[in-house]
Amino acid sequence: MKSLKTAFIYTDAFLKFKTPRGYPWSVKRTEATYQLCRKLKLLDHEWISVYRPAPARESALLSFHDKKYIGILKKANNGIFKEEWLQKGLGTTECPVYKGVYDYSLLGAGATLLGVDLIDDGIADIVFNPTGGFHHAGKDFAAGFCYINDVVLAAKRLLDRKRRVLYVDIDAHHGDQVAEAFYGSSRVMTISFHESGKTLFPFETGFEYETGRGRGKGYCINVPLPAGTGDEEFIWVFKRVFPPLVRSYKPDVVIAALGVDGLGTDPLSNLKLTNTGFSQAVEMIRDNSPKLLSLGCGGYSLDVSARAWTLGWAVMNGLECSEEDTMSFGGAFWGDGVCALRDTPSFIPDEIREKNMKEIKRVLKAIRKTVFTIHDIRK
Ligand SMILES: [Zn+2]
Repeated sequence: MKSLKTAFIYTDAFLKFKTPRGYPWSVKRTEATYQLCRKLKLLDHEWISVYRPAPARESALLSFHDKKYIGILKKANNGIFKEEWLQKGLGTTECPVYKGVYDYSLLGAGATLLGVDLIDDGIADIVFNPTGGFHHAGKDFAAGFCYINDVVLAAKRLLDRKRRVLYVDIDAHHGDQVAEAFYGSSRVMTISFHESGKTLFPFETGFEYETGRGRGKGYCINVPLPAGTGDEEFIWVFKRVFPPLVRSYKPDVVIAALGVDGLGTDPLSNLKLTNTGFSQAVEMIRDNSPKLLSLGCGGYSLDVSARAWTLGWAVMNGLECSEEDTMSFGGAFWGDGVCALRDTPSFIPDEIREKNMKEIKRVLKAIRKTVFTIHDIRK
C-alpha cells in the first residue's frame, strides 16, 4: 500500500449551498466524511493528500451535455423555477430548482474532473470524491437528484487521453445514464449492481438482458438484486462478476460509484446491506483496479453515509480502524455521544434469503451465458 498515493477531494464550499427543506440529498456529505476521516486519523499518512476542487468549466460539460440544457440549468441557478423546465426534469421533487443549483453541480463535476487529472498526471493512484457519481443525469435532462453527469464527463476525459475505462456502480439504483452514454461502445465497460427496477427507480432499466448494442455488445453488465438482498448474497455475486470482468477487460482506470443507499439503514432503497458488505466490495474494487477514481454517489442518511464512506476510505488506503477509535468519534456532526463506525448486521429471514439467492443465481447464469461468453471468460 505504501507505494501508492491517494487523494481525498474536499472543500467546505459545498456547505454554502442550501437545498429545499426535506430534500434528501445532503450538501454536508463531503464535510461529514472528511471530518470523520480526520478524527480517525485516516488522512494523516505521507501517501495521502487532500485536494481542494474548483468548479468545472462550462466547456467541460459540453463533452456530454446538450448546450441548451446547460443554458437552462444556468438560468435555474437563481432559484426561480419556470414551468417549461419540467420537460428537462427540472423543478421536480427529485431535482428541484434552488439558488446555486448550477454552481453546486459545477463544483461536484469539478471535483470529479480534478480526480481524473490527479490520476492521469500520475499524482494519485486512488482518488475519492464523496460529492460525485451523479449517474442519473442525462444528456439533456436532470433526474434522480442528478443534474450534471460527472461520471460520463470523467470517462470521456479519460477516453480523450487514450485510457481504457471500466465503470463499476454499487449504488442501490441502476447507473442508467452512464450505461446509456456508452451503450454502443466497447471503449467503456459499465457494470452496475443495484436493486431491481421491479421495485426501485429508474424502474425501466438495469436488467440482466441489457448487455449493450453494436460494438458495445457485451460491454454493459447489469446485476439487478431483489429487494431484501443482504451482504452475503451481494458479495457472493459481486465476487463472481466483477473480478473476472475486470481481469478480462484490463482497464487503465476504474471509476467506481460507491453509493451507500443500498445499506439497510438508508431510507431510499429496499436492499439490506451493511457497511461491512459495502467495504468488502470496496476492497475487491481496490484490489482489481490499476488506478481508481471513486465517487460517493447516493447516500441519504448523513450519519450512515459518512460512516460507510469513512470505512471505504480506510479500505482504499489499507488502513484498519481500531475499535477504540471508532467507538467514540463525536465531532460537529455527531456531538459528544458514543457511536460505532461499523453497522450491526441486518436481519434477513431465511426464506427471503433463499428466495433472493435463487433469483441472483438465475441472473448470474444469464450474465455468464451472454457477456462471459462474448469475452471468453471461463468461471
Ligand atoms: Zn442511488
